[in-house]
Amino acid sequence: MSELDGQVDESPFSDFLGFELLLEEQDRELLSRVRAWMTREVEPVINDYWTRAEFPHELLGGMAELGIAGLAYDGPGCPGRGALVDGLVAMELARVDPSMGTFMGVHGGLAMGSIQLGGSDEQRERWLPAMARMELIGAFGLTEPETGSAISQGLATTATRDGDEWVLNGDKKWIGNATFADLIVVWARDTDDGQVKGFVVEKGTDGVELVKQEDKIALRVVQNAEIHLRDARVPEANRLQRAESFRTTADVLRVTRMGVAWQAAGCARGAFEHALRYTKQREQFGRPIAGFQMVQDLLVKMLANVTASTAMNARASQLQDAGQLRDEHASLCKAHATVRMREAVGWAREVLGGNGILLEHHVGRFVADAEAIYSYEGTREINTLIVGRAITGESAFV
Ligand SMILES: Cc1cc2nc3c(=O)[nH]c(=O)nc-3n(C[C@H](O)[C@H](O)[C@H](O)COP(=O)(O)OP(=O)(O)OC[C@H]3O[C@@H](n4cnc5c(N)ncnc54)[C@H](O)[C@@H]3O)c2cc1C
Repeated sequence: MSELDGQVDESPFSDFLGFELLLEEQDRELLSRVRAWMTREVEPVINDYWTRAEFPHELLGGMAELGIAGLAYDGPGCPGRGALVDGLVAMELARVDPSMGTFMGVHGGLAMGSIQLGGSDEQRERWLPAMARMELIGAFGLTEPETGSAISQGLATTATRDGDEWVLNGDKKWIGNATFADLIVVWARDTDDGQVKGFVVEKGTDGVELVKQEDKIALRVVQNAEIHLRDARVPEANRLQRAESFRTTADVLRVTRMGVAWQAAGCARGAFEHALRYTKQREQFGRPIAGFQMVQDLLVKMLANVTASTAMNARASQLQDAGQLRDEHASLCKAHATVRMREAVGWAREVLGGNGILLEHHVGRFVADAEAIYSYEGTREINTLIVGRAITGESAFV
């Protein structure tokens, strides 16, 4: 404990082992600001947006002031604060609302990450500062209607060079933020060399049709869209100059997959906290239900899941900061944290009884949102196969 600057009991009650104390003072202050803002501005209004499946655009100004977009990146205008605080902030966002956490994961993680890792110095200068200030909002277009898990092999959207321009054709599905994004990083296969390359498609580009996906049962605040590209032309200056193959896409996903592992821990943590509060207030048989052994059993199992995921994620984020994070590390964290999240939100709902399915008690929203987090950025099966290949030396991908 000697290296810890602070006391474990200074942390919020669900940070049971005091992971926040691993942060520098200024990063802990940032985390507190994010927590206060999410609790004050987002929690009171988010169920309403969730019901209407709308995005709270009026909150973006306040979110921008937190200075958390692209937190881990050290590109131009980016905060460059490191992976551990970035992960804890991702957990903090999802702890209040997984949709807002996903919005930031797409903008500050996937879209900014693609430019940070795949863009030239000039391209980073062109887009990253405005994205960090959230004056430009980004999206990330990889998945296609016919190809999700197998996208590294089956990506069918094409890019054909024509002079100083590229002509894009194909369809994308599930692209978060796309309905209102100022720029979408679209991944397409070069018809000349067969490699997957990244293109920054700016708002208003001719030949780009965006269709909002309706009637989702999870992350309803996130605006997902299908994108139809029909002879959409983008200049060579918008092709990410250092993204020569799917390897760059995979480099982005390795980092953002850690972000999703943190979101999963946050989703579980939010549900646990609501459940704990509820069990102290709700009385049955003349006493708070928190006093029943079987209720305590579920509460402690939830806390154990949150704590185990946080521990695993924290270590992996430290490895990321040290430049040692491997694909299989991020995959193990994502697969583990999402399985533990799904258990925890179910137990949280259970201790709320019937109220667990009412939005007003929040836990129902976490239960629904967990289903999307479970599947995106690599399903449990795909992440398991990545870890399995690493530990056995045998690829079981078919
Ligand atoms: C809310 C939401 C937001 C998203 N946002 C984005 C975004 O912003 N940008 C983007 O590009 N994508 C986004 N996605 C897409 C997401 O990454 C995909 O949904 C995910 O990769 C899984 O692909 P799929 O849904 O097509 O499922 P499929 O690939 O069709 O998989 C279906 C099932 O088959 C299993 N399976 C597939 N292959 C194997 C195998 N080899 N062995 C064993 N099992 C296998 C899967 O694990 C899964 O259980 C989003 C998805 C959701 C739900």
